[in-house]
Amino acid sequence: MNYFYPYPTYLYNDLRYRKSYGYDDINPFLSRGVWTPFTWVEKYHYAFSGPFDQAAIALTFDDGPDPIFTPHILDKLKTYGAQATFFLLGENIEKFPDIVKRIAAEGHVIGNHTYAHPNLPQVSDEDYHQQIQKTDALIEQLVGYKPKFFRPPYGAIREDQLQWATEQNMMVIQWSLDTLDWQGLSAKHITEAVMANALPGSIILQHNAQGVPLQGSVDALDQIIPQLQEKATRFVTLPEMFHLDKAR
Ligand SMILES: [Zn+2]
Repeated sequence: MNYFYPYPTYLYNDLRYRKSYGYDDINPFLSRGVWTPFTWVEKYHYAFSGPFDQAAIALTFDDGPDPIFTPHILDKLKTYGAQATFFLLGENIEKFPDIVKRIAAEGHVIGNHTYAHPNLPQVSDEDYHQQIQKTDALIEQLVGYKPKFFRPPYGAIREDQLQWATEQNMMVIQWSLDTLDWQGLSAKHITEAVMANALPGSIILQHNAQGVPLQGSVDALDQIIPQLQEKATRFVTLPEMFHLDKAR
């Protein structure tokens, strides 16, 4: 089976990572860049980054909404006039519907990140479809559209699942710049990593989730956004980056 493990090898050996994400079957020889056939981006509606010839970067925030970090992130995005994409979990949408509405009302885009964050390569077809459809319905009920954009938890997805998502007219989005913010990194560390690696078309991965030390990640936005805006970078949503509708 084509398993997709997006993190570099050293992280697989990080006990904290393995424990928190439940990976007991890690293949230590898989690392970022060698785990997947590159042809998948041609066969399916699938991308790791946006076009390199536009001065645009996409900020993406996974696993929300949560009652602490999501509002802080929204406040900062508003301050700097930046737009972003939030890949939400159905189970958190049910807990914090008002925050979902606020995300949409402030011009940001909502994507589907499954209902309960399973490791998709291990779930049945029926479970996979339900994880997406249940979350689609919750989002549509609150903000009026079924998301075009889908991000698999951990970036893990089998080829047949990618094919099904493409048939559903979804676009599956990975990332090109991982902040590793869930490790509790400082704002300084995250800022340096982003500034050293951001390019035109970068899709940056950050999180908003309960019980995860993400204050450094949120605070880093006060550095990352203005510093990149000084270089004439636009912060765009994924539909804007790919010239697609946010809905399907
Ligand atoms: Zn996630």
